[in-house]
Amino acid sequence: MLEDKVCVVTGSGGGIGRATAVEMGRQGAKVVVTDVNDEFGAETVDLVRETGAEATYVRCDVRSEDEIRALVDTAVTTFGGLDVLHNNAGVHETDFATYPTVDTLPLDVWTKVYEINLRGVWLATKHAAPHLRASYRGPAIVNAASIGGLVGYPMAAAYCSTKGAVLQLTRATAIDLAPVRCNAYCPGSIDTPMVQKYVDAADDKDAIMRALTGSHLIPRLGQPVEVGRLVCFLASDDASFITGSAFTIDGG
Ligand code: NAD
Repeated sequence: MLEDKVCVVTGSGGGIGRATAVEMGRQGAKVVVTDVNDEFGAETVDLVRETGAEATYVRCDVRSEDEIRALVDTAVTTFGGLDVLHNNAGVHETDFATYPTVDTLPLDVWTKVYEINLRGVWLATKHAAPHLRASYRGPAIVNAASIGGLVGYPMAAAYCSTKGAVLQLTRATAIDLAPVRCNAYCPGSIDTPMVQKYVDAADDKDAIMRALTGSHLIPRLGQPVEVGRLVCFLASDDASFITGSAFTIDGG
């Protein structure tokens, strides 16, 4: 449970971030929802409030250090501190028209994926760190990696390499910020707008869906809330002796 913990979830306007924010609300947290899409962010705030929890929205593009600083300041001034940072915001950025491989990937795509998936995790960690260190409510960071950070995916050189780097950043953060805990998780294919976009862009949608679900021993897509529950566990005091670790959540 996350009773009274102040939790920030980056990119919580949809997908896994939204499901996690709502689950945090169910578990008694005060939730700071943040995204680049204000409309979706406001919807998430409503869903969190429906659980009876307090929630607020702050627009934040994790590429901007200024916006991250403002996000952390708002969390602290609104709720009196910061106990949990869920670094969820991430992009895949496959160009579905050209499917670029490592030798044809444009520099601007590489840069964007790195700025959001890796540098954004570091910047949010950096600015949350003083408040997490000051927290007396079991502070924790939970980082979104991916199975793509453990094995290679085709036409995803930037994505896979950022997610592998997030796993190493998690370990380095756990050391530098101890006793603040820091863990990561590696989802398989989860039923979110990110995966839906990937499937929708394919000529043979059924074949892509069969390939995605067939790669899991439990032959379906994961549900966002299934990941959200793992994030909440890692953020909670039930995980009080777990740090610097990575957990797969991929249906086997
Ligand atoms: P999604 O695309 O459904 O949602 C991502 C959210 O992040 C969106 O609300 C989007 O507006 C927001 N966002 C995008 N750019 C941003 C930025 N610059 N700053 C702040 N917010 C931004 O994605 P998802 O499937 O829910 O994935 C969430 C995380 O989980 C990502 O880090 C992703 O890499 C990781 N992941 C997802 C899957 C999957 O199968 N869905 C698998 C492995 C890892």
